[in-house]
Amino acid sequence: MVTLKGLELDQRLSQILHRELERQRRKLEMIASENFASEAVLAAGASVFTNKYAEGYPERRYYGGCEYADELEVLTHQRVKKIFGCEYVNVQPHSGSSANMAAYFAVLKPGDSILGMDLSHGGHLTHGAAVSFSGRLFSCHSYGVSKETELIDYDRLIELATTIKPKVIVAGASSYPRIIDFQKFREAADLCGAVLIVDMAHFAGLVAAGIHPSPVPYAEIVTSTTHKTLRGPRGGLILCRLSQAKAIDEQVFPGLQGGPLMHIVAAKCAAMGEALQPDFIDYQHQTVKNAQRLAARLSSVGYRLVSGGTDTHLILVDLRGSGLNGQQAQTALDLAGITANKNMVPFEKESFKAPSGLRLGTAALTTRGFKESDIDQVSRFIIDALDHHDDESKLKKIAQKVEDFTINFPLYPGMDS
Ligand SMILES: *Cc1c(COP(=O)(O)O)cnc(C)c1O
Repeated sequence: MVTLKGLELDQRLSQILHRELERQRRKLEMIASENFASEAVLAAGASVFTNKYAEGYPERRYYGGCEYADELEVLTHQRVKKIFGCEYVNVQPHSGSSANMAAYFAVLKPGDSILGMDLSHGGHLTHGAAVSFSGRLFSCHSYGVSKETELIDYDRLIELATTIKPKVIVAGASSYPRIIDFQKFREAADLCGAVLIVDMAHFAGLVAAGIHPSPVPYAEIVTSTTHKTLRGPRGGLILCRLSQAKAIDEQVFPGLQGGPLMHIVAAKCAAMGEALQPDFIDYQHQTVKNAQRLAARLSSVGYRLVSGGTDTHLILVDLRGSGLNGQQAQTALDLAGITANKNMVPFEKESFKAPSGLRLGTAALTTRGFKESDIDQVSRFIIDALDHHDDESKLKKIAQKVEDFTINFPLYPGMDS
């Protein structure tokens, strides 16, 4: 197995890597922000580019020996532009959070105001939460969803934009299951002269496949991760207009990073190559169909879903009134071999540590080949585990069934220690 080669003498590390591989194989991975990168992506990420310093950009590097790093980064640019139809791209951000930081620094000064989505309504920490750099450096305000529909309250957004007059409006979220109307965000930004930044970290794969509308025609800057629905290595991307290109490049390097992770750029390149294949579109469609099937199955036994369902790869279950909170649900599912995470739901009063929601995603299972009928079985496991959340021996029995079922969907078949 690629990752263990040369580690024969490092038994402790080999064992940890092996156990993680087996964990991924035997459990149902339903964390909405996770996926399984292909062996090609993993191999590119483990390549000799890890040895290379390439500070700067193609043809403008601060180190010698960058001729192949240049070729790699240019090829990655070409692929990203082809997928998203953007004028310009920076593929160097180490993560989604650093992509957002660079985007803010490109258009804001400390103290300037940002209008982003409320964390408890689905927004991300970097959209203005007090504990994040965004909340500490900028003056942050938030919009959210409407209490009735649980869809983004666009009228309120426009009202807030006109009263606060933020310098930046951020669209995009981590636990919002519905399609986002970028035209409305553009209108709000135009009303106050704000720059519109769309953070498509979660749904970038859906955008690449044409299932979710593209933010590129509407936003001056679009940020993303590469490891969620886009199914690449852990990392970030920034797409922008040519007019923002210089500012974005300068803020990524030297603004906040040193040398780019060229091995991760190689892995991004591999992932973008895959995203250009026709079967990537089929994959994204199946992911959404699977999420909709999961939503239907859980609703049919009485679970309430925020906004009533999903248009994307994720659902948010509101557990209020079910007798257990998100933490208890997460723990019970973990014992049953199902990996998911607790999440806040809009307008809830519970603490951040014991929120009332459970977020479930289908991107990773769909990569393993799960279809709707398999999701029916997964739904039965989830319902069974939640029904028996305080019966440890029952949860262990479910975990065994989950393993027997899951092992039928090979994961990295060629890889072993
Ligand atoms: C996941 C996510 C990020 C952050 O990505 P990291 O790579 O974990 O830093 C940023 N924005 C949104 C909306 C996300 O969902």
